[in-house]
Amino acid sequence: MRAIVKSKPEKGLWMEAVNVPQPGPDEVLIKVTKASICGTDKHIYDWDGWASKNIEPPLILGHEFVGIVSEIGSAVEGVSPGDRVSAEGHVVCSNCSNCRSSRYHLCPHTKGIGVNVPGAFSEFLCVPLCNVVSIPDGISDEMASLLDPLGNAVHAALSFEVSGQDVIVTGAGPIGIMAALVCQQLGARHVVLTEVNAYRIDLARKAGVRHVVDVRQSDLQTVMQNLSIKEGFGVGLEMSGNQDAVNTIINAGKNGCCLALLGISNNKLVLPWNDIVFKMIHLKGIYGREIFGTWKASMELLQNGLDIEGVITHRLPFEDFEYGFSLIESGTAGKIILEM
Ligand code: NAD
Ligand code: ZN
Repeated sequence: MRAIVKSKPEKGLWMEAVNVPQPGPDEVLIKVTKASICGTDKHIYDWDGWASKNIEPPLILGHEFVGIVSEIGSAVEGVSPGDRVSAEGHVVCSNCSNCRSSRYHLCPHTKGIGVNVPGAFSEFLCVPLCNVVSIPDGISDEMASLLDPLGNAVHAALSFEVSGQDVIVTGAGPIGIMAALVCQQLGARHVVLTEVNAYRIDLARKAGVRHVVDVRQSDLQTVMQNLSIKEGFGVGLEMSGNQDAVNTIINAGKNGCCLALLGISNNKLVLPWNDIVFKMIHLKGIYGREIFGTWKASMELLQNGLDIEGVITHRLPFEDFEYGFSLIESGTAGKIILEM
């Protein structure tokens, strides 16, 4: 089968012929139909500081996908060939104290599909049965291939009560845009999304985010005044990993606000410590999704009318992955879906 492989410890990815994996007793073999490119894949493509420390070539990339069950291991029950599925991209140990308390997303021994074990940028992949997520009718293949990043957005948005609150989201990447749309759907009073890239600002507006602010050109305080946000935002979702955005979200939060931090940086970020203390800010780090509560919530939001189609900007044949990565590099893409 064909697969997109990090074959060498240097910049780039290569399409290679590899063997179709064989499912073990507790595993499911999935024929991938659509996979989308994540920022993590771009880090691995670039072979940046994080990737060179954490990735061991050769590795098949990809963890955001949908496919059809092709074969099941001898001990597998509840999933059958022909089922439409996706999978949680973190394989957990089941033995640590967090796993044993059903807090699987906090497992310290987690292995990433497409990061530590072979991924979904291939015709087939094998995953443990316990990672498989069945996709209900009514959720399209494209939406199903986005459930992993949508889950990041939903995990952050559900971390605090947003209904009736004024919410600030920093960074209109695909995850920030989806998080803003989720907060709108959950009944926030105002959701303000900040960004510095013109293409992404336009994308966010077209995707349905009502208040998108170019913080290079507009003064956030004025935007807040115009929306009658007098004391600051009650909830903030940091989705850029940028120092200026971190400063913005802490400045714009009201006393006692709740901030979910999801953005990641290659640089050391500085938190304005005294502001956090004096404003009595609640901080929560967000990694991945809650397994599997976030998956359920994300699918229910989609079934309930959440429309995230606007974050998809490109649908490319699997072979054109290089073009996809070049679009991400140029900052002129939202979500890119590779079609098998
Ligand atoms: P992305 O890089 O596509 O989007 C980040 C956006 O932030 C960009 O559009 C960028 O222009 C914008 N930005 C930069 N500086 C800004 C500023 N000062 N103010 C406002 N916006 C600014 O990323 P994504 O795929 O949407 O993911 C969002 C972030 O979350 C990234 O940092 C990513 O690495 C991280 N991430 C975290 C997890 C997790 O589990 N915690 C999972 C996936 C991605
Ligand atoms: Zn564990």
